[in-house]
Amino acid sequence: MKLDTLQALYVDELRDLYSAENQILKALPKMIRATEHPELKEAFTDHLKETQNQVKRLEQIFGSLDESPKGKKCHGMEGVLEEGAELMKEKPEPQVLDAGLISAAQHVEHYEMAGYGTVRTWAEKLGRDEHARLLQTTLDEERAADALLTTLALQSINVDADREVGLTTGSELAGRRGPKSKSTSTQQPSARR
Ligand code: FE
Ligand code: ZN
Ligand code: FE
Repeated sequence: MKLDTLQALYVDELRDLYSAENQILKALPKMIRATEHPELKEAFTDHLKETQNQVKRLEQIFGSLDESPKGKKCHGMEGVLEEGAELMKEKPEPQVLDAGLISAAQHVEHYEMAGYGTVRTWAEKLGRDEHARLLQTTLDEERAADALLTTLALQSINVDADREVGLTTGSELAGRRGPKSKSTSTQQPSARR
């Protein structure tokens, strides 16, 4: 397809998002299984349900445009999700894994937020007010999911992961008695963002 109009570019980006969302639908169940953290599991599970609705919203938009949602692969999301998969393959300590899963999920949310912000604005420019409303609803969900992940990271997960990392660095590793040793002698202050 020749992308010589904003309308064509709009449809192209919507297809990219449709591909991204469907990739996320496949990845989230693996992330839910991977974590043992109850609140993180719940956050991923809730966002899986939201993602199903987001796919339906895109299908509704494609229906009103009389266009097919298929025909494009989102390579950006493929790469972001691949990094999450690589992390899970490493099988890190549970708390380190959780910190990494949050990071992976926030990369996903930010990528989506960039896409939805763009198509929402284009929908407005094209006079598609109903599309803009649907896309804004999804954008708000992605932002809320991202904010919840930040909260979880700050609450406990990154702090605990930092403790775990502290125990497995340098000379401390040789003298390590067990995974739950609470020695704090060589700990660095948590690096918080
Ligand atoms: Fe989404
Ligand atoms: Zn993409
Ligand atoms: Fe999302």
